[in-house]
Amino acid sequence: MAIERTLSIIKPDATRRNLTGAINDRFEKRGLRIVAQKRIRLSPAQAERFYEVHAQRPFYRDLVAFMSSGPVVVQVLEGEDAVALNREIMGATDPAKAEAGSIRKDFAESIEANSVHGSDSPETAAQEVAFFFSAIEMCP
Ligand code: ATP
Ligand code: MG
Repeated sequence: MAIERTLSIIKPDATRRNLTGAINDRFEKRGLRIVAQKRIRLSPAQAERFYEVHAQRPFYRDLVAFMSSGPVVVQVLEGEDAVALNREIMGATDPAKAEAGSIRKDFAESIEANSVHGSDSPETAAQEVAFFFSAIEMCP
């Protein structure tokens, strides 16, 4: 295992309910370090670009509208096996199928408004981190 970085997004359903601190607590308790973080509002065009891989999926338009509907907190998490560890902490995409104790089980409102995003591989993580952050913004 190696020290990795992964891109995390606290989604609009979670910022609306003031859950940023509660979610960050889950990451830190499991040993992930928040090495960069900012609260921003994505424009529809930015959300479209970020979710381009899903452009052909039936939920794409709704997802873009949701992700630009309110503030998000974008962050870089660093730690041992960070990509897979973060996916475990988040739980399954559909909160009805998410594991007990996971963020989505405890906080998600629906399969779309599921509180958090996390990169799904080290390669995707590098692209997604670069989408939001420059090197000078990350402080290990
Ligand atoms: P994320 O990419 O946000 O970390 P994920 O990898 O678990 O989540 P993906 O399959 O990449 O899930 O889907 C991206 C996002 O699109 C999901 O997090 C969710 O917000 C939304 N989504 C996925 N499937 C559906 C669906 N069937 N209906 C509505 N929204 C969906
Ligand atoms: Mg995904």
